[in-house]
Amino acid sequence: MRLLKPIDSCGIMLSYRCQCGCRHCVYACGPRWQGWMSRDLLEALLLAIRDTWENPRGLHLAGGEPFLNFELLLLAVEKCREYGLPIEYVETNAGWCTSYEEAREKFRLLKEAGLTGLLISCSPFHAETVPLRRTLTALQAAEEVFGPDRVILYLPHFVELIRRFEMDRPVPLSKWLEAYGLEEAGRLFWHGERTVSRKHRSFLERPQEGAFG
Ligand code: SF4
Repeated sequence: MRLLKPIDSCGIMLSYRCQCGCRHCVYACGPRWQGWMSRDLLEALLLAIRDTWENPRGLHLAGGEPFLNFELLLLAVEKCREYGLPIEYVETNAGWCTSYEEAREKFRLLKEAGLTGLLISCSPFHAETVPLRRTLTALQAAEEVFGPDRVILYLPHFVELIRRFEMDRPVPLSKWLEAYGLEEAGRLFWHGERTVSRKHRSFLERPQEGAFG
């Protein structure tokens, strides 16, 4: 008797290398890692997945930050298509995204290679190293290329909260602690804006800048 359903989803980390080094990263990715998966290993891995995966629903590509090695990322997407693997999305922290045109071009190349969607990270931990403007630039370019339904911003409720601190520079966690206090900030990181108490509402109700202004 089979106790577990066959796995229907899987992800491939092309590297542990990531310019962010978020404090909450479950894989302990960060800038100290240098290596990337070799092209041979990548191809062998994808072929092995194709040959053994009984219940393929969706595969995603991640890191680390996969856009730091765009050639390898593009190859991975091409190979997924060549081997008939259902690639769902690529994950990115958008920290590389300083130019709308460059982002759009990279997304266009990935789409041409077979990619149909993107996941962009957004949280107080990512905001410690990624200015919100880069996250929103990546979001806008990705929605133009893949369509709004094919781009996941994870997690969207943090956009407004981060925007109130800063658009163009990283926001250290200490700023959240100063604004909300330890307990409230902890709740906020876990649940989002709905848990903020009345005494902190005035901070949240400050006038907002335009997202791309
Ligand atoms: S951006 Fe993602 S992969 Fe990079 S350190 Fe943060 S959580 Fe880890």
